Amino acid sequence: MSRHYTGSCHCGDIKFSFKAPEIVDGLRCNCTVCQKKGAMMSNFFVAPEDIDIEAKEGAIATYEFGTHVAKHHFCKRCGIYPFHQTMRKPGHYRIHLGCVDGVDVLSLPHVLVDGASF
Ligand SMILES: [Zn+2]
Repeated sequence: MSRHYTGSCHCGDIKFSFKAPEIVDGLRCNCTVCQKKGAMMSNFFVAPEDIDIEAKEGAIATYEFGTHVAKHHFCKRCGIYPFHQTMRKPGHYRIHLGCVDGVDVLSLPHVLVDGASF
């Protein structure tokens, strides 16, 4: 069962939509970057063909570190992180659920991933 979701950064320079299972929980991670970001991520990957990103020219900035496999995207204008491309499944996305329309992110249960040990 998949659903169609829409989302955006805070200022709206980055808008996106994606196909995914019903969002019933989230994922948090204790790795160095996630700990500082503090975001509630999707507990599923979105394949590149299942996400549609509409961003203003130059709106998406990308932070990389370590192995440079994961791509941590953020909005150049408002600084919000809407999604990243994962290390575990290169090219595939995890979504910041706080950026998804209609999701009450603070009421979702979440699993904790021990990314610090990867
Ligand atoms: Zn923005």
